[in-house]
Amino acid sequence: MNPAEVYKAAMGELSPMIETLTRLVAIESPSTDPEGINRLCDLLAAGFSRFGLEVERMPVPSAGDLLCVRWDRGEPQIMILGHLDTVWPLGTLKGRPVRIEGDRFFGPGSLDMKAGLTIAMHAVGMMKTLGLKPSHPLTFFFTPLEETGGLAYRGALEAEAKRSRWVFDLEPAYPGGAVKTERAGVARLRLVAHGRAAHAGIDPRSGINANVELAHQILRLHAMSDHDRGRTVNVGFMEGGTRPNVVPARAEALIDIRFREESDGERVLARIRKLEPALEGSRLEVSGGISCPPLERNSKVVELYRRARGFSAAMGIDLPEASTGGGSEACLAAALGIPVLDGLGADGDGAHAEHEHVVLSSLPKRVALLIALLTQP
Ligand SMILES: [Zn+2]
Repeated sequence: MNPAEVYKAAMGELSPMIETLTRLVAIESPSTDPEGINRLCDLLAAGFSRFGLEVERMPVPSAGDLLCVRWDRGEPQIMILGHLDTVWPLGTLKGRPVRIEGDRFFGPGSLDMKAGLTIAMHAVGMMKTLGLKPSHPLTFFFTPLEETGGLAYRGALEAEAKRSRWVFDLEPAYPGGAVKTERAGVARLRLVAHGRAAHAGIDPRSGINANVELAHQILRLHAMSDHDRGRTVNVGFMEGGTRPNVVPARAEALIDIRFREESDGERVLARIRKLEPALEGSRLEVSGGISCPPLERNSKVVELYRRARGFSAAMGIDLPEASTGGGSEACLAAALGIPVLDGLGADGDGAHAEHEHVVLSSLPKRVALLIALLTQP
């Protein structure tokens, strides 16, 4: 069956897809609510079991379960990533219930990423009905703490990724339907300047002003940004001193660094760690490091993207690519050198925002695209 035929069949499944999405959004599942996550797990596990897939739940300390769904076992496999949690606290749905306006489906967590879970479920369902076999064993890996950056299952995620030929992430598309072939890496640092306290009026010369020291460093830090290279160094928070009449002994800054290539990120971190004090007698202290590696747009990623674009073209759909500044769990797999394609979820807008919505007509497109990626040789 070619991608165009699958797409045509998928368009006929739009109503059941909307029903599934509505049911998934109805279960509120903030990262901080294990009970909600587990109820969502129950529903998904039942759905995938009905299709004859093997379902495994892994408890995560003080969080909801991680859901692992397998269609055959063996290596290399294809890994499909998704997350169960949303950024919305319990009760959000009450104030902002699901509503459909034309082609747009509004609801908390709908785009990010109950729609991605819907796409996974219906891709499997359609493959079963149409008798389409996956080209490799499949592992769906649905995590409970993506939005808070849970590192509790990082080892398990990496172990699955290492067994995979490709990793697909069902995070939302870039608004307009583009897949994500590049994500910035993120580092977080704390810089503390230590000076010496003194009375600002009586004995100012025996003091060393930590605020002034920090001010010098902030200018140096901002000069390290290089927007053409996709590198930003942002001092987003600063604090220092105690009162106006005291030469401050301590000041600190929190720094967010974004970078396109891991090696570039490492280089900037090394420069920051080697910063020299500007004032005689003061001292600097740097802590922190890379919190999320980048998804680098390397040749493996480009090759996988071209594959997806080819299937999409066969369905008569344009598939652009985009780069984004935010991280996702796919970056952990990308850092291992596995070819990753991200943003394969629904099109829409407003992830983490009040106007969050899914473009409904993108659901059959993405289901058909995922089926092509999972079944075509
Ligand atoms: Zn997400």
